[in-house]
Amino acid sequence: MSILDDAIAAVTAAADQDAGIWDVAGQIPADVLGGLARKGLLCAQVPTEYGGLGLSSRDNGELTAHTGSLCGSLRSLQTSQGMAAWTVQRLGRAEQREEFLPKLAAGALAAIAFSEPAAGSDLSGMRTEITVDGDAIVVDGRKTWVTGAAYADLIVVFGRYGNGVGIAVVPSGTPGVTVYPIAAPSGCRAAGHSDVRLDKVRLPLTHLLAASGAPTTMLVTTALTYGRLSVAWGCLGMLIACRTAAVQHAAERVQFGRPLAEHQLVARHIAELTAAEQVARLVCEHASTAWDEGRPDHAVTAVFAKHVAARQATQGSASAVQLLASAGAHDDHPVARAYRDAKLMEIIEGSTEVCQLLLAEHAMAGAR
Ligand SMILES: Cc1cc2nc3c(=O)[nH]c(=O)nc-3n(C[C@H](O)[C@H](O)[C@H](O)COP(=O)(O)OP(=O)(O)OC[C@H]3O[C@@H](n4cnc5c(N)ncnc54)[C@H](O)[C@@H]3O)c2cc1C
Repeated sequence: MSILDDAIAAVTAAADQDAGIWDVAGQIPADVLGGLARKGLLCAQVPTEYGGLGLSSRDNGELTAHTGSLCGSLRSLQTSQGMAAWTVQRLGRAEQREEFLPKLAAGALAAIAFSEPAAGSDLSGMRTEITVDGDAIVVDGRKTWVTGAAYADLIVVFGRYGNGVGIAVVPSGTPGVTVYPIAAPSGCRAAGHSDVRLDKVRLPLTHLLAASGAPTTMLVTTALTYGRLSVAWGCLGMLIACRTAAVQHAAERVQFGRPLAEHQLVARHIAELTAAEQVARLVCEHASTAWDEGRPDHAVTAVFAKHVAARQATQGSASAVQLLASAGAHDDHPVARAYRDAKLMEIIEGSTEVCQLLLAEHAMAGAR
């Protein structure tokens, strides 16, 4: 078996049965999460030299889609952990990579915090401040909707730093860090979304990533590009789950003397879902290939993939709910979870509107 096959088998063993229960309970059991994290499966692109699995973007995408087909919350945690690891890998210096990446690959759980009460789509409005005080840094501010913060050992925090942005790796047990889980999120309910308060949190200077001070757009885009690609593959996973459930139900359920699939208006839902899945797969593969080949357009292909896959997932999961009707109208059913989770994918890592603005800007740059 390949490393990817092993990884997929481990995720199946952990999440095949209980994702609906976790969603309703709003929590993934610590032993399940810890077990996957210790195998490096939440940040499988971390290079082998740091103890990671060293998967390519394409293979990590397949793993992410598989996770997403089983459990949107677990996939969300995979996205956050991967983003945190990528941020350290890309924006930290060698000693920082050596300090933090082996921890993340060996089981420490991580979250990544940009958003604030007054800074959502517009991160230039961040008010969290990172300042240097002798041989320490001080992080002071508020973060909101941080996926995985309820479980995290480390939170990668973005904040104002000099004339640009700083990035601090904040152990969540540090004095001054308080995590407030968000009650009853509408989707990905077991993903540990939380508000985080940082009250003059003091850390060694080594916790400030090396690229700190660079412009906001550059640093944020580096982290978000990983996140967008991961969310896109997760949306493909939702579509796989929806298409599988829809096809099975349409074959088995008989109304008006025939299986649902033989009624043409129902067959249309199956056709649309199948097309949505294929479209999502193609944009994901396109973007991961650009990443793996190190192409300069990899950031814009990730925006494109996330934008397209999230919209396909919203529409495809709605078709699946319609096709299953009362059979899928339970909170813990895969199509009901996908329907709720998919809408959130149009909000995070750059909302649909923000992606549209970025794609239009890219298109217009070609005309100048
Ligand atoms: C499930 C979930 C998980 C999340 N996880 C994280 C996380 O791990 N870390 C983190 O830091 N944050 C996280 N967030 C926060 C997320 O990044 C923000 O919700 C997102 O950036 C949008 O910000 P906002 O909600 O404040 O909406 P706003 O920015 O207030 O936008 C409201 C609406 O206006 C639109 N809009 C805003 N500006 C423009 C414009 N210029 N042109 C056109 N339309 C515009 C938006 O598209 C949106 O539809 C998460 C949010 C959710 C819901």
